[in-house]
Amino acid sequence: MEEPAAQVDCPFCNWAPDTPFVYEEQLAVALIDRRPINRYHILVVPRMHYQAFVEMPDELVSHLYRLTKGCALILPGRDVVAGATGVTLDGT
Ligand SMILES: [Zn+2]
Repeated sequence: MEEPAAQVDCPFCNWAPDTPFVYEEQLAVALIDRRPINRYHILVVPRMHYQAFVEMPDELVSHLYRLTKGCALILPGRDVVAGATGVTLDGT
């Protein structure tokens, strides 16, 4: 079910005011993870909350992956990054 992020208790939707966004747009945000597992750990999250990944419209899924690719391309020092990993988190 799609819901505005501010109306749900979701760790991926309710960010602290000082959240370090690296990119913001109408459909999604990209931010530095508060507990990064590497130097370039960025989360790309839709602005709307979806209870399950499979409920997300295909167009939004495609958009999020394009945005993920864009984030990988603008990382400082990306020439030394051996690769990029896209992971989809779903559920609790
Ligand atoms: Zn959420």
